[in-house]
Amino acid sequence: MFAGGVLPRWLFSNDPDRPPALYEFYVDSFWMDSAGAWQEPVRPPLRGSQKADVAIVGGGFCGMATAYHLASLLPGKRIVLLEGARCGYGASGRNGGFADPGMPGLGWVYDEFGPEVARAYWDATALGLTQIHAFASEYDCDLEVNGSLELATDEAHLDDLVAQQRRYQSMGLGAELLDRAAVRRAIASERFVGGLRIPGHAILNPAKLALGMRRAIESVGVVVSERSKVLAIEPGHPVRIRTEYADVEAAKAVIALNGYAPQIGLFEQRILPLTNYVCATEPLSAKQREAIGWNGREGIADTRTEFMYLRPTRDGRIVFGGESAPYFYGGSPATGVYRPSIERLQKSLLVTFPQLEGVGFTHAWGGTMGFTRDFVPSIGRLGDADDVFYGVGFCGEGVVMTQLAGMILARLVAGEEDSLTRLPIVGRQMPWLGPEPLRSLVVRLTEWALVTLGVNPVR
Ligand SMILES: Cc1cc2nc3c(=O)[nH]c(=O)nc-3n(C[C@H](O)[C@H](O)[C@H](O)COP(=O)(O)OP(=O)(O)OC[C@H]3O[C@@H](n4cnc5c(N)ncnc54)[C@H](O)[C@@H]3O)c2cc1C
Repeated sequence: MFAGGVLPRWLFSNDPDRPPALYEFYVDSFWMDSAGAWQEPVRPPLRGSQKADVAIVGGGFCGMATAYHLASLLPGKRIVLLEGARCGYGASGRNGGFADPGMPGLGWVYDEFGPEVARAYWDATALGLTQIHAFASEYDCDLEVNGSLELATDEAHLDDLVAQQRRYQSMGLGAELLDRAAVRRAIASERFVGGLRIPGHAILNPAKLALGMRRAIESVGVVVSERSKVLAIEPGHPVRIRTEYADVEAAKAVIALNGYAPQIGLFEQRILPLTNYVCATEPLSAKQREAIGWNGREGIADTRTEFMYLRPTRDGRIVFGGESAPYFYGGSPATGVYRPSIERLQKSLLVTFPQLEGVGFTHAWGGTMGFTRDFVPSIGRLGDADDVFYGVGFCGEGVVMTQLAGMILARLVAGEEDSLTRLPIVGRQMPWLGPEPLRSLVVRLTEWALVTLGVNPVR
C-alpha cells in the first residue's frame, strides 16, 4: 500500500523497466533495426548563442513536416529543428506504421459539423498520405496501400460497424461491410464475427519514413540539431529557447512535442501521455503464411476499446501492438518495455492466429502518445503568444495527420491562410484533463477495469 496505506501502490508506480533518463538512445524496435537507424549518425547539437528565423522543437513527423513545408514557404530563412534525441526517436519512429487518412478526429468533425465538412476534413488528411507517397518515391519506406480491415470480436460491435459504413457512405467514401465468412476469406482467423473493409488506408515502415524525412529536410536547407533537449521556451520578441547546449533566439517557434510536451510544462492539463506497446514476430515460414491467409496484406485492427492492431512487414513478419495503453504517474513518457502489456499482447496474437503457436518474437518496444480527452488533435498558437505555434494531440493515429499538421503549421508561421488553416482542428480548445493524483486514479482505474474485469477480453 501507498499514500498512508490508503491507496494501492500500482496506482502510482511507474514502469519498472523504464530507464531513468528521458532518452536511452536505443529502442529495441524492429523498425529501427530494419531501417539501419543505429548506423545513421546522430546530427551534432547546436552550441552557444544561436539565431534562427524559425525554431522547431521536436523532430518527429510533425516537426519534420513543418520544417519541410516552411523551407519552401520561407526560402532563404534559417530554420532550425531542435530534437532531444534523434529524429524519429519518439512515437514517429516506433508506431504500428498504419497510415490512415481521416484519423484522428473524423468522428468529432462529423458529429459537430456534418458529412460535408467531414468529407473536406478527410480530403485534407489524404493530402498527408499524398505527401508520404512523395517522400517514399525518394526515400523508400515500405509503403503499401492495401486498405484496412476493422474486425469485430463480438456480435455487439456489429451495429457500430454498420453505423460507420453509413457515415463513410454519407461522405461519399466507400467502405464494405464483411460478414463472418467474408472475414474468414480475408484472414484465417475464427476470432472475428464481421468487419469493415476501408479502402485507401496504407502501411509503412515508420523509422524508414523518419530517416527519409530527415534527409529531405536537410536537402532543403533545414538545420537539424539532434541531442538538443529543450529545457525552456520563453515566448516574446524574440522567442528564447534554451537547450542543454545552446541558447537560441528565434523570430518564431513551433512546438512539435506531442506526448512529451507536458515534460517541459506545456499542455499539462490538456495532453495525456499514454504508452502503447508493439511486438514483432520472426519472419513467418511459407507454411505459417499459408496457414493464416491474409493475402491482401491489409492493416487490421479490432473493435474492442483497447484493441490490437496487426500488419505484415515487407520481410514476412507480423508487427502487432495495442491491447493496453498504460499511463505512468505524472505523465512520464515510457521508453522501456512493460512486461504485463507485452505478455497480454503476445497472448492476443495467438488468440487471433492459434496456428502460429510457437512462433518466435524478436522485438518488443513501447512509445509515448499524446492523447486529448476527446481524441481530437489541436493545432494553433500558444496562448496569447503570436509567435509560438503548436501541433499536439495526435493520439494513436498521427502518421498521416502529422503530415497535414506540418502543412498547416508552416502556413500559420508564414502568415498564410487557406482552407487547411480553417479546418476545425485549428485553434481548437482541448478539453481539460484534471490534476494528479485524481488523473492517475481515473485513468488507471479505467485501464484496470478494461484489463481485469473482462470488459476488454483477450479471447
Ligand atoms: C506504439 C505506438 C503505435 C502507434 N501506432 C500508430 C499507427 O499505426 N498509425 C498512426 O497513425 N499513429 C500511430 N501512433 C501515433 C503516432 O505515432 C503519433 O501520433 C505521431 O508519431 C506523433 O508525431 P509527433 O511528431 O507529433 O510526436 P513524436 O513522434 O513523439 O515526436 C516528438 C519528438 O520530440 C522529441 N522531444 C521530446 N522532448 C523533447 C525536448 N524537451 N526537446 C527536444 N525534443 C524533444 C522526441 O524525442 C520526439 O522525437 C502510434 C504511437 C505509438 C507510441
